Amino acid sequence: MRGMSRSLIDSFGRVHRDLRISVTDRCNFRCRYCMPADGLEWLPREELLSFEEIERVARLMVERYGISSIRLTGGEPTVRARLTTLVGMLAVLPVDLSLTTNGATLKHVADDLAAAGLRRINVSLDSLRRDRFLELTLRDELTAVLDGIDAAIGAGFDPVKVNVVVMRGVNDDELVEFAEFGRERGVIVRFIEFMPLDADEAWSNNAVVTQSEIVSTIGEVFPLVPVARTSAPATRFRYADGGGEFGVVASVTRKFCDTCDRVRLTADGQFRNCLFAVDEFDLRGLLRAGATDDEICDLIERAVGAKWAGHGIGTVNFIRPARSMSQIGG
Ligand code: SAM
Ligand code: SF4
Repeated sequence: MRGMSRSLIDSFGRVHRDLRISVTDRCNFRCRYCMPADGLEWLPREELLSFEEIERVARLMVERYGISSIRLTGGEPTVRARLTTLVGMLAVLPVDLSLTTNGATLKHVADDLAAAGLRRINVSLDSLRRDRFLELTLRDELTAVLDGIDAAIGAGFDPVKVNVVVMRGVNDDELVEFAEFGRERGVIVRFIEFMPLDADEAWSNNAVVTQSEIVSTIGEVFPLVPVARTSAPATRFRYADGGGEFGVVASVTRKFCDTCDRVRLTADGQFRNCLFAVDEFDLRGLLRAGATDDEICDLIERAVGAKWAGHGIGTVNFIRPARSMSQIGG
């Protein structure tokens, strides 16, 4: 029996403290950069990890390796039945527990999630214009998402972040509007560079609006002060007038692989050492074959040991993962 807490270190010396858990591959939206209009072939129910299986892996990773933050995602996590039960099971662990959601049903569940022990929430929102929102998500739900953001603030989540994937010629004319939105509502907007994980493979380098473009467009209107970088993927900027801050997740143009501390568990129990990994490690198989905790940890350590130095987006070496963002867990 192996003892308590040692770090999960890969062969490049990176210590892993952040676990992303996808709880479903299903979604009630069809964001065009993530999922085809007809949806994808959903995983059969029995292939999803049960809450008990998820909790076992999470607990082991916290107790054995000192994982300190867990984020629930999907697909759309709020479409998983009894999500608040899972939140309650994970909230007893000594971790920073958060959720990423499209926000469509948040106004109905925000209070319950907060009561179950969730502390932080990210809501994805790519346009503040109703017609464009509909075009982007194939759902006429802008008002519901805005209400969801208000509900999240009202439920006491702190901070509430709003994730905006910026795409050239699609929503890059809304950067300043989003900055104003964040300042007015007291939420942290995080602009995300478009990544080649779209299900219909329409991504191109040219469609990426870069961190420098984002920062200079907003900086022309609101003077900015850079904030010292932490291990978090976002580069942060403060408004010089004290109006809050925003961040940019520049996965494509300023990749942060050298400080990456993240590993992932897919909804069907595959362990991934990188969002862009081409290989997965079958934890579900082990869990369902009656493996001991040590055997599960051996697989996790092997997976982390095999982590590469970084992805090669934009280079000839880049290999697109076989699964899209919603299937991996964004
Ligand atoms: N459904 C939830 C949501 O939309 O927030 C959680 C899952 S979603 C896959 C997680 C995040 O990934 C969202 O902020 C979404 O905008 C982002 N995302 C999806 N596809 C992307 C892509 N090709 N490039 C960059 N971000 C992407
Ligand atoms: Fe669904 Fe989120 Fe993908 Fe949009 S980005 S289709 S909300 S999983």
